[in-house]
Amino acid sequence: MKLLLAICLSVIGFAVPASAQTPAKALFGAKPDASQQRPAPFGSYSKGCVAGAVQLPETGPTWQAMRLSRNRNWGHPETIDFIKDLSRFAARQRGWNGLYIGDISQPRGGPMLSGHRSHQIGLDIDIWMRPADRLNLSRKARENISSISMRRAKGAYVNGSWTRAHHEILKAAAKDRRVARIFVFPGAKVQMCNDEKGNRNWLRKIRPWWGHHYHFHVRLNCPRGARGCVEQAPPPKGDGCAEARQWVADILNPPPPKPVDPSAPKPRPRRDYTLSDLPQQCAAVLQSN
Ligand SMILES: [Zn+2]
Repeated sequence: MKLLLAICLSVIGFAVPASAQTPAKALFGAKPDASQQRPAPFGSYSKGCVAGAVQLPETGPTWQAMRLSRNRNWGHPETIDFIKDLSRFAARQRGWNGLYIGDISQPRGGPMLSGHRSHQIGLDIDIWMRPADRLNLSRKARENISSISMRRAKGAYVNGSWTRAHHEILKAAAKDRRVARIFVFPGAKVQMCNDEKGNRNWLRKIRPWWGHHYHFHVRLNCPRGARGCVEQAPPPKGDGCAEARQWVADILNPPPPKPVDPSAPKPRPRRDYTLSDLPQQCAAVLQSN
């Protein structure tokens, strides 16, 4: 009876009362649109939410949002501005007419039912490595086409699909004041380290990471004055090229596995966050119209 009531209420549009144990990803994953609040990220990239997010238009003069069925083309307004600016730059590169944009955040951010741990506060953006040559892809085509991997040898090197345009687009993103760091596979970082003959300061923000050979991931700084938005520590000083080269060396020549300490405690499986794990403002973000 209780269940039936809950189903009826949900069908006619009332929220089913969530218990304290309901995973936050179920609550945030169910919201089809942004909250009508002043734009603000709350919490950290991997534990938070976003108020007053803006939807990246599905198609613009220099971009298309991909995989629209996921409804993850929502971000802080500064994120949307950044994407428009970078896509305009990309459109000037040979073979590119703009950018294909992957996941940003859910309409109210928060944890997701599938995929990422971060992307929770509307400041993370996945950008496809595949050159956006056509900007008239249908919704259906954008569900079906795939990006292109740029790696070979398990990510130790870039492959033949990598071009100077990739270097220039990542460089432009890294030089942008709004950007905190960019994740890309180790072989791409080393390639950029080798190819950059000018000022190398921007390389500091290019961070080698697992995966990230079909897309690169741009993480923005907290917008000015965004109290309640929690930044990560800045990347270590320097261009990070020696560390990236070491990572590549370890891919090519894996070090022997570390001996396992049988008395060490088993790592605990990660628990799903509930609403009370998130910053308190996230309850209002969920409840807002
Ligand atoms: Zn990402």
